[in-house]
Amino acid sequence: MRGKLVVGNWKMNGGLAANAALLGEIAAGWTNTPGRELAVCVPYPYLMQAQAALSSTSVSWGAQDVSEHPSGAFTGEVSAGMLAEFGCRYAIVGHSERRQYFGDSDGVVAAKAKAALGKGIIPIVCVGETLGERDAETTETVVLRQLGAVLERLGEDVRRIVVAYEPVWAIGTGLTATPEQAQAVHATLRSSVARSGAPEVPLLYGGSVKADNAQALFAMADIDGGLIGGASLKSTEFLAIARA
Ligand code: PEP
Repeated sequence: MRGKLVVGNWKMNGGLAANAALLGEIAAGWTNTPGRELAVCVPYPYLMQAQAALSSTSVSWGAQDVSEHPSGAFTGEVSAGMLAEFGCRYAIVGHSERRQYFGDSDGVVAAKAKAALGKGIIPIVCVGETLGERDAETTETVVLRQLGAVLERLGEDVRRIVVAYEPVWAIGTGLTATPEQAQAVHATLRSSVARSGAPEVPLLYGGSVKADNAQALFAMADIDGGLIGGASLKSTEFLAIARA
């Protein structure tokens, strides 16, 4: 059976003192439950802090991006090997903010996913349409194109990834896809990964998930959990989502 996974994406937020409190509260408030996993993806400089705070707990940690390159003259980049040294279980790739502000193409996202897997890190591959694309009724085409690039690049390693459907219009806006809208896209994604021989790949939903809408979203047949931005910065809210 597919397990449940909730991952916090702190984005470019945090500070040593605030992180210490947040990580401590999350660790103290989370009970190890078979089939349910909780993780936080923190900014690179705080990976060591997350590792120190969480390594003796059942909460995992990861990064919000990874370089497609293994090493060398790529100023500002961080390799999968480096992330592995800090115990990262996950690396988000293809978040819409990376695609939008930093030009990550489908090909680059696929290469990043491959680089992560090469060092034993699970890539959380984000896909999602803009409002314009939804209005133009191209949601399915867009998410299948984004996911397709990764499936093609990874071959049978696709079994080892996580996919997050994050409609761009729902990220940080307070707008959430209805459970039915999200499920419809997840069903499409499920068929796609199943055709690649990986029907059990966890499919997360992300986009203004809060404690009061998480349960309805997570109850849908093909939604296996959530990728949580803003609400992951408050321990009570994040834990309430994780328990949903
Ligand atoms: C995200 O950044 O992945 C996200 C889903 O953000 P938010 O929950 O704030 O919409």
